[in-house]
Amino acid sequence: MSESKIHLLPQHLINQIAAGEVVERPASVVKELVENSIDAGAKTIRIEIENGGLNLIKVVDDGCGMSREDAEKSILQHATSKISADIDLENINTLGFRGEALASISSVSQFSLITKDDDSLAGTLVEMTDAGLRMSDSSAARGTVIAVRNLFHNVPARRKYLKTAVTEFNHIVDLFFEFCLAYPNIFWKLTHNNKTIYQFPGTTLLQRVGDVLGDEITKNLIEIDVKINDIHVHGYVGKPQVARNNRKLQYLYINSRPVHEFIVAKQIKDAFGTLLPRDLYPV
Ligand code: ADP
Ligand code: MG
Repeated sequence: MSESKIHLLPQHLINQIAAGEVVERPASVVKELVENSIDAGAKTIRIEIENGGLNLIKVVDDGCGMSREDAEKSILQHATSKISADIDLENINTLGFRGEALASISSVSQFSLITKDDDSLAGTLVEMTDAGLRMSDSSAARGTVIAVRNLFHNVPARRKYLKTAVTEFNHIVDLFFEFCLAYPNIFWKLTHNNKTIYQFPGTTLLQRVGDVLGDEITKNLIEIDVKINDIHVHGYVGKPQVARNNRKLQYLYINSRPVHEFIVAKQIKDAFGTLLPRDLYPV
């Protein structure tokens, strides 16, 4: 009989392969970390970026935090607090549930996590080192700080595909605006190379639209609020005079998740009928 050629992969390789799906670029890391902060009930979310996220992506929140035991588990693959039984899959009201993000991200970066929940006296620092996982006490307020340094440092083929810091940072800004508009009640802050780029205190949706899109547009909005059976459509649409020649200022969400759905965008444009020339798109 010939020797078996098939072997099971070691866990760190499994995580790195999974990272290929979860993590494409710095903005994908920001998305995963911020979604976790929102799921943790944070009211303040600070995002600190260095060199377009190539050197550092740090997300600081004041959410529920984690116990030491949960902090240790959080970076294991398929580790989640968000679903447990089959039935839960039908009832997801958190942004995450696959329990894959932290395992993946920590396998392709220099990763550290500081967290503290209300029941713990001390905070916990979790670091991934070449020697493995290291846990220690750390002073911390309630909440979580995750720092992701040198993304893809150990996967040079992926690192090579990252664009310039400017381009990567622009992707982060686009994502930041999407989150800011979806969660106006949260205080958001974005810094780049230690400079504050945006800072929006918690407010109403209309005010947040003003923060992100400016007064000129905010003065020319129509509020939409329609309920049909179980569907509730809410938001603001720009009057024809502030329409744009592209869809960049269209922010669409389903259950607070940003979607880039051509069919929905087209329906909105069609609703304007002859009020809008063919080559203009509503804000
Ligand atoms: P998922 O979000 O799909 O559950 P993640 O890998 O993103 O998977 O996170 C794993 C778990 O770690 C989460 O289910 C949550 O319990 C915990 N966690 C991650 N980030 C935070 C955070 N910022 N605050 C509190 N708990 C967190
Ligand atoms: Mg998550």
